[in-house]
Amino acid sequence: MSLSKRRGFVFPSSEIYGGLGSAWDYGPLGVELCNNVKQAWWRWMVHERDDMEGIDSSIILNRSVWKYSGHEDTFSDPLVDCKECNSRLRADKLELSKRFHQAQDEALRQHPLRSLAGTYDTQALLDRKWLSCPNCGSDSLTNLRSFNLMFRTTIGAAAEDDDPTALAYLRPETAQGIFINFLNVQTTMRRKIPFGIAQIGKSFRNEVTPGNFIFRTREFEQMEMEYFVRPGEDERVHQEWIDYCFDWFKTLGISPDNLRFYEQPKEELAHYAKRTVDIHYRFFPEREDEERQWDELMGIANRTDFDLKAHSKKPEKEGERINKDSTEDLSYFDEATKERYYPYVIEPAAGVNRTVLAVLMDAYTEKVNDKGEKRVILRLHPELAPIKVAVLPLAKNKPEIVALAHAVKKELQPAMRAVYDDTGGIGKLYARQDEIGTPFCVTVDHQSLEDEAVTVRDRDTWGQERVKAAELQEYLKKRLGIAC
Ligand code: ATP
Repeated sequence: MSLSKRRGFVFPSSEIYGGLGSAWDYGPLGVELCNNVKQAWWRWMVHERDDMEGIDSSIILNRSVWKYSGHEDTFSDPLVDCKECNSRLRADKLELSKRFHQAQDEALRQHPLRSLAGTYDTQALLDRKWLSCPNCGSDSLTNLRSFNLMFRTTIGAAAEDDDPTALAYLRPETAQGIFINFLNVQTTMRRKIPFGIAQIGKSFRNEVTPGNFIFRTREFEQMEMEYFVRPGEDERVHQEWIDYCFDWFKTLGISPDNLRFYEQPKEELAHYAKRTVDIHYRFFPEREDEERQWDELMGIANRTDFDLKAHSKKPEKEGERINKDSTEDLSYFDEATKERYYPYVIEPAAGVNRTVLAVLMDAYTEKVNDKGEKRVILRLHPELAPIKVAVLPLAKNKPEIVALAHAVKKELQPAMRAVYDDTGGIGKLYARQDEIGTPFCVTVDHQSLEDEAVTVRDRDTWGQERVKAAELQEYLKKRLGIAC
């Protein structure tokens, strides 16, 4: 976190007004890193496949979308307040209290195999004072209540704050914008099942307990894809996407030791999901309990035909239309088999911000130099590095060297993000670039004026190589893995 702020990746938002809880602004290097993550995802998910289209739907949609998707009724967290320290807490994050442990010991004395924790629902545990506040340890907690996580707003100049006809929401996921455009994309792009629709964009959730830096915020960005398949093909395709996604995180340079699968147990599944597997990252390596070190980076759900059916006008229950507001039927006619069906949907959904956090944490390393000084090196994958190359003149008081360094930088910049820096001694300049993950530094020196060559220094090995200025762009493109 301190490196992020010091070097311009992430700043606390609204800081000059005392900040805004769990809101963050991305600085000059942070915005480049986020853009590189999104570009890498889009290239992998959309451009490098034959069965994918992209869209960019609105953040504010017709309220009916959230009515029929189930979000108005069910997109909520169970909430309690601690009467002792006044913290507002998510009920699933409470701890077992002292009273619980005493009761558990007693129960085990009487029945050695009897475990109490799984026997009662949350309200019953609260009634017995068997849960406690993780902040102050008190078991004096309010009853359970439900809190809808969608941000509300009103549409139109004349709208009163409480006018239900003007009520709208900021989207809590990008997926619904894809479902309501399923037919538009399928028909305009002449797609046959199976195919997918991808989208990157902001989502908003009024989280009860945001925190842990950019891990959980109320405004965040998602990279989601909905893959439409024939019912019956869903389980195989779901497993394929689980494996592709795990491999994608590895291609970003994240160590597989810090990634794992998490199969959601039945009781955790969303109401529409048949199976969900999350990819976890070791976001909290400092925690002693190994199980608590992990948390969700991405979820890959089999959403069945729930969403397309829910937004269609045709499905009926007891002779009545279930959706009375939709004007379309989102079923699909399969020419090959002459059947009409509602496609099943496989959804890989990742957070841009959590990916950025995982990438930063994984890249952070410390190295001791010859003088025994500690140096931070951000070993970012070259594709993600905010700056690919820094051009540094060895003597900033020599106009010819400075001019050549500027010319080298200008030559490189259409092909890669390059910067020029002469604001310190060479050792300091190298250290600064290592700390922000720049894969290469190019040094222009006296010799360069004669042999038209420059020194290229590698961030990870600190090794140096002499390269002809005329060949520099091709050399760097190859080392950075830039294709064209
Ligand atoms: P969690 O259980 O952590 O609240 P979720 O299961 O509700 O997450 P999904 O609805 O599956 O999350 O969203 C897909 C992805 O979007 C998550 O894997 C995560 O990377 C990202 N995401 C969700 N909520 C947030 C948030 N509040 N802040 C940052 N990223 C988020």
